[in-house]
Amino acid sequence: MHPARARLIHSRPQQDGPVVYWMHRELRAADNWALAHALELARERGRPLCVAFCLARHFGQARPEHFAFLVRGLRETAAALEALGIPLALLRGEPGREIPAFARSVGAGLVVTDADPTKPKRAWLAEALPRLDAPVVEVDGRNVVPVRAASDKREYMARTLRPKIQRLLPEFLDEFPALAPHPVAWDAPLPRADWEALSAEFGPPPKAFAPGEAAAQARLDAFLRDGLPRYADDRNTPVEPACSLLSPYLHFGQLSAQRVALKVLAARNVPAEARDGFLEQLIVRRELAENFCLHTPDYDTPEAFPAWAAATLAKHQDDPRPHLASEAELEAGDTPDPLWNAAQRQLLATGHMHGWLRMYWAKQILLWSPDAATALARCLRLNDALSLDGRDVNGYAGMAWSIGGVHDRPWPERPVFGTVRSMTLSGARRKFDVAAFVERWSIGL
Ligand SMILES: Cc1cc2nc3c(=O)[nH]c(=O)nc-3n(C[C@H](O)[C@H](O)[C@H](O)COP(=O)(O)OP(=O)(O)OC[C@H]3O[C@@H](n4cnc5c(N)ncnc54)[C@H](O)[C@@H]3O)c2cc1C
Repeated sequence: MHPARARLIHSRPQQDGPVVYWMHRELRAADNWALAHALELARERGRPLCVAFCLARHFGQARPEHFAFLVRGLRETAAALEALGIPLALLRGEPGREIPAFARSVGAGLVVTDADPTKPKRAWLAEALPRLDAPVVEVDGRNVVPVRAASDKREYMARTLRPKIQRLLPEFLDEFPALAPHPVAWDAPLPRADWEALSAEFGPPPKAFAPGEAAAQARLDAFLRDGLPRYADDRNTPVEPACSLLSPYLHFGQLSAQRVALKVLAARNVPAEARDGFLEQLIVRRELAENFCLHTPDYDTPEAFPAWAAATLAKHQDDPRPHLASEAELEAGDTPDPLWNAAQRQLLATGHMHGWLRMYWAKQILLWSPDAATALARCLRLNDALSLDGRDVNGYAGMAWSIGGVHDRPWPERPVFGTVRSMTLSGARRKFDVAAFVERWSIGL
């Protein structure tokens, strides 16, 4: 593994005990740099290795079906880990307290964990570190180019991050090592998961997405065959889109973006425009969102907006709105805009909304809310509660882009939006068959 992927975040004297990988973001056995690193360290030290996962009681707006997706995927991952001689300990409660208590109970000598810049994870870590006696190493297994290696500051736009990523890609876009079973057995008792009971507790996951690493690979292979070749032409049309639908798998860490990139580069008969267009989203845009959340502690508030956007939104604060939407209208997809309603109904029915519509959706919420702060709070609540891929850096960057001009530039001035880019129904009609999309999602839920 490239040494820049790992970082010592808690310096304690070396201990003699087993290695614990606290998995909380990269929930997979395949193509997982943190797991590969933990295995290597455990082998070097001749110590056993276990993976610890702590299921929090609440996670932001996540709903039971989101937990169901996670738990079913984790069951598959636990079986793959078992085959490598690595047991999975399943803890429940507050991770910031439960993980240190577990590490102490097994006499952990070293803890390896996933890097994650989102607020709940920062809070877990802030609580856990002072309680841990062992050194802690954090591994960035989410980004192709580790976020801290790509840039040490908040980037203004894709244009400023892109060359930095491109320069480092040859160094980091390497093949994963094959994992051999760990030779040192874990022989102490561990809290094991009762998978049947967990599945029953959370009920079924969203029907539109089969959970787990195998389903993620199958989805990727289907995309390489059917979607990628037409990605450049059809990704922005919500009717028969060419997009990958991989975001839930990437979000839950059931799939590695680096594996996706390697397979995309190896795919045959793909026009260069389609391949490059997809890698721009998967790597540059996704890693720009990670950069945004890492370097903007208040990434989910108007404090994150650039000064020009905050000023223009304030100037237009009192502009008359064409409509003031209620929370209930938004939630139900029952506004005066048929396209917006269809997008919301797609989200309600499937746990996913097409990417182009997500921008339109958020911008109309700005148009129909009394101010930008209210609009952002509404978007965050709806997106994080209803999207299977919600509660993700991409969502926080996407909403800040749509409402607060983050990573964008000023556009011609309009009512309410000021110089923040606006999107309109007539613009959508010029882009794709709006009537067909509305028809598709006008059916009862
Ligand atoms: C208001 C708003 C809210 C959003 N909320 C989320 C969210 O909660 N979770 C989420 O993962 N994405 C979110 N996005 C970003 C983007 O819309 C989705 O990642 C994308 O639509 C997922 O579908 P896909 O996997 O089929 O994408 P594809 O077009 O197949 O792209 C492949 C991958 O590239 C990445 N990607 C694509 N577009 C973007 C983008 N604009 N920014 C960053 N990464 C991108 C994603 O990881 C995606 O899975 C949001 C965007 C906006 C404007």
